[in-house]
Amino acid sequence: QVCRPEEVEKSRSNLPIVMMEQEIMEAINENLVVIICGETGSGKTSQVPQFLYEAGYGSSMCGGRSGIIGVTQPRRVAVLATAKRVAYELNFCLGCEIGFQVRHDRKIGEHNCIKFMTDGILLRELQTDFLLRKYSVIILDEAHERSINTDILIGMLSRLLPLRQKLSGQQCQVQQQRSDQGELLSGPLISMAPLKLVIMSATLRVEDFTLNKRMFPITPPVVEVPTRQYPVTIHFSSKTELCDYETRALKKVCAIHQKLPAGGILVFLTGQRDVESLCSRLRKKFSFQRIPILERGKNSPCLMSNGANENTTKLESSNLIVGKELGELDLESIANAVDIDDQDNGLIEEESDASLGSADSGEESSSDVSDSDDDVQNSDEAGAVQVEETIVKHGIGTNLQGSESFSVTAHDGVSTSHGMRGDSQKTGTVLKVPGKVCVLPLYAMLPALAQLRVFADVPKGTRLIIVSTNVAETSLTIPGIRYVVDCGRAKERELNRSTGISKFTVQWISKASAEQRAGRAGRTGPGHCYRLYSSAHFNNNFPEFSAPELSKAPIEGTVLTLKCMGIDKVINFPFPTPPDPTAVQEAEKCLVALSALQPSTKLPTQIGKAMATIPVTPRHARMLLAVFQEAQSLKKSSKAKFLVAYAIAVAAALSLENPFVKNLSISPEKSTPENGCMEDQKLKTRGSYSKGATPGNAHAKFFNPTSDAFSVVNALWAYERSNSLEQFCRENFLHSKTMIEMSKLRKQLSQIVSRYSKNVFPKLSLFEEKQDMLNSEHLADVEGFWLQLERISLDPDQEVLLQRAICAGWADRVARRLSSQVKNMTKEASKSHKAVRYQSCAVQEAVFLHPSSSVSKVAPEFVVYNELIHTSRPYMWGITCVKEE
Ligand code: ADP
Ligand code: MG
Repeated sequence: QVCRPEEVEKSRSNLPIVMMEQEIMEAINENLVVIICGETGSGKTSQVPQFLYEAGYGSSMCGGRSGIIGVTQPRRVAVLATAKRVAYELNFCLGCEIGFQVRHDRKIGEHNCIKFMTDGILLRELQTDFLLRKYSVIILDEAHERSINTDILIGMLSRLLPLRQKLSGQQCQVQQQRSDQGELLSGPLISMAPLKLVIMSATLRVEDFTLNKRMFPITPPVVEVPTRQYPVTIHFSSKTELCDYETRALKKVCAIHQKLPAGGILVFLTGQRDVESLCSRLRKKFSFQRIPILERGKNSPCLMSNGANENTTKLESSNLIVGKELGELDLESIANAVDIDDQDNGLIEEESDASLGSADSGEESSSDVSDSDDDVQNSDEAGAVQVEETIVKHGIGTNLQGSESFSVTAHDGVSTSHGMRGDSQKTGTVLKVPGKVCVLPLYAMLPALAQLRVFADVPKGTRLIIVSTNVAETSLTIPGIRYVVDCGRAKERELNRSTGISKFTVQWISKASAEQRAGRAGRTGPGHCYRLYSSAHFNNNFPEFSAPELSKAPIEGTVLTLKCMGIDKVINFPFPTPPDPTAVQEAEKCLVALSALQPSTKLPTQIGKAMATIPVTPRHARMLLAVFQEAQSLKKSSKAKFLVAYAIAVAAALSLENPFVKNLSISPEKSTPENGCMEDQKLKTRGSYSKGATPGNAHAKFFNPTSDAFSVVNALWAYERSNSLEQFCRENFLHSKTMIEMSKLRKQLSQIVSRYSKNVFPKLSLFEEKQDMLNSEHLADVEGFWLQLERISLDPDQEVLLQRAICAGWADRVARRLSSQVKNMTKEASKSHKAVRYQSCAVQEAVFLHPSSSVSKVAPEFVVYNELIHTSRPYMWGITCVKEE
C-alpha cells in the first residue's frame, strides 16, 4: 500500500522508533491516550503519523478509525518542514493526502489523510466543532515545550475523549438497532470513531501529564523510544560572556571550521536579528570579500530571502555567495580577519542584544575541572586562540577513548567527511585547508522555503553552518550536525504582572534546554558542544526546567477563549499545570472592564465573542472593534479606512514601550538596551547628533497634546517614510529597536485585519439589538491605504472617536485628576504638571503624569494610560485624554 523511496527505506531502518512500531500501535489501539517520549531526532514527528496511516487511521472508510490524522506543532517552522518530509517519505504529494495549515498559509486537498498544523489552528477548530468530528486521532507534538495552546488542547481533549467514546458507542447501538429492524443502510457504515490522543515529548519529564488525575483519571501509558546517541563532549567557557555573545560565537565557529574535522556546525543564538547578523559576519569572514552591510532591518544581500523579497532566485544567488572557495588562504589571514573583525565590532554592532543582570556574580570561584586549569585569563583577548586551548584541554582527544588527539592532527576539512576517528594517524603541526562553507539562518519568521534549505544536501567538502534560534532545539532535526555552539540564552516573553506589559527579553535557558541543544551534536557520530558560558554559571544560575508558558504570559486572551468555548469556571479547567488563581481573577476583572464578560456571571458578552475571533490580545481586539464599529457608520470608505489604519498604528504604538528617548546622561554601566540609553551612549561617542538638537525639540514636532499614542503614531508614520531608518531614529531621538518592532507589528496587524475582513468580520454582529454587520470593504487592504497616506493628522471628531476606542481597550487603566488639585490648577498650569495627582482605578496610591508625556502640559481631568512606570513615583505613560461624554 505504501511505497517509500529507496533512500527513505534505508534511513528509516536506522531509526530506533521504527523497531517499536508494533508496541506503539498496540498502545494506541488499546488506550485513548498514549504518551511517546524520545530524544529529538528519534523519529517521533516523521514516523508516528506514518504508523497510524499504515494502521488504517486517516482514511474515511475504515470503520472504527475513520477520520483524518491531525498533528499539531507549537511552532510554525516545524509544520511545513514535517508535512513536507512525511509526504516525501510516503511518496505522497503535499496538498493531496498530506496537508498543512498555519496562520497565513494552508494547503489541504480533498483527499487529505494527515493534517499538520500549529496548535493554535486546532484550538480554533475546536471552537467551531467541539467534537473534532473529522479527526480519528490527534497527535500533540513537542508537548514538553508547554506552549499555552498545547496545554489548553491537552486539557480540552481530556474532556473530549470520553465524550467521543460515549458518542461512538451510542451511534453503534443506533445503527445496530436500525439494521436489526431490517432497515437497509445505504452506503458504508460511517460512525464517529472514538478519538485517540497521542502526546509526544522530547523529554521524559511528563509527570504533569501522567500524574494529573483531574486530566486523565486513568494514567496513560508512556512509551519510551531509545535513542542512538553518540557521546557529546561538553566544553564550557572559562568565563561567561555577558554582552557580546555573538562575537564569541563567531570566534568559536571560525576556530571549529579551521581546526576540526568535517561536520556541520549548529549555532544557537536568540532571535532573528542576531541570527542574521552572525550569518552575514560569517559569510563575510569566509568569503574574504566585503559584503556591503545594509541597513538594519533589511537583509544583507547574501542572506536567505526574507519577508517581502521571498523568491527562489534569491535563494539561488545566496547559495553562490556563501559557497566561496577558501582553499588558497592561509591561516594567518584567517587570524587577521578575526582581529580586524574585533576592531570593527563597535561599528557593525548596532547594539548588544542582551544584558543579563543576574549573570555576573561570583562565577569564577569554579571548582570545575574544565575551568580550573585554564590559564587563559582574559577571555576577551583570547579569541580564537582560547578556543584552541579549550579544545586541547577538555576536548576530543582526552574525552574520547583512545588517543585521537585532533587538535594536533593535520586536517583537510574537505576530505574527512566522516573522519573524526579515522584522521588521527597523522600527527604533527597544525596545517589546515578549511573548505567551503554554507551559512544558513533558521528562525521562526524565516519564509518556509528558506527554512527548508537547512535540510538540503550540501556539496561534498562544504561545511554546513546553521545559525538558529531555539527552533532547532527540539522542533527540527538537521542532519549531519557534529558541533554545537550554544550561547545559553533564548528570547523569552517576560511579563510584568503589575504593569501588564510583556516583552521579549533575552534570558538564560534551562539546564534541560542546554542538554537538548548539546544533544543535537551527537546524532551522526560523536560530537562536541561549545557552551559560551562557564560551568559554574551553568550550575548556579540556570533553572532546571523552563516554566510552562501559561505561568509566564498574560492570560486574558486564554481566559476569554476558554469562556467563549463554554468553560465558565476557568479555574476548574483541567490544565496540566494550573495557573495562579489570582492571575485568573485578574484576567476576568480586566475582561469585565473591556466589556468582554458580563460583570455578574462572568460569561462572555457579544462583544467578548466578537473579540475572541480576532487573533490579537483582548485589549487590541477591543479597541479595533470599537473603531470598526464607528467606521461602519461612515459613508466614505476612505474616511473609514483612515480610521482603521490609524487605529492599527495606535495598537502597535501601545504594544511597545516609549520610543522617545530622553535620558542621555545615564552612564553606560547603568544603561541597558531596554531603556534605550546604550544606543544613545554609542551615538554620542560617535558624534552622530547634530549640534543643538535636543530630545525635547526633536520630539516636539511629533507631539499630539491629547495622546502619547497619537504622538507615537506620528513618529511611526514619519519613520516608515524616511530614507534611512537608522539615521531618522538618531536625528529624532527615537529608540530604533522599538521602532523596528513597532513597524513590524503594525504591518502584521494590518494583515490580520485585511485577512479577516473577507471571512470573519462580515459575520460579526456586535450588539444583539442592532444586527450591524461589519462592512468588509472598509477593512480591506488597510495596509495599502496607510502606505499611500500623504499626511497624518486627525480632525477633532476622529480624535475623540479614537480616544474612546483606546479607552475601551484600556478601560481598567483610567485615572481621574484628584479634586483637591483642581483649585490650584491655574497656578500649576504655569509650571509643569508633574505634581498633579491622579487617582487610578487600578491602584490605591496616587499616580502622576510622566514628565515626558505629550499630555503633561495639559493635565486633563480624565486620562487612560498604557503603563505605570515606578521610578521616584508611579508615573503613567502612554496617556490619552478622555473627554467626558
Ligand atoms: P523527532 O520528532 O523525534 O525529533 P524527526 O522525526 O523529526 O524526529 O526526525 C527523525 C530523523 O529524520 C532525524 O534523524 C532527521 O535526520 C531525519 N529528518 C527529519 N526531517 C528531515 C528532513 N526534512 N530532511 C531530511 N531528514 C530529515
Ligand atoms: Mg519532533
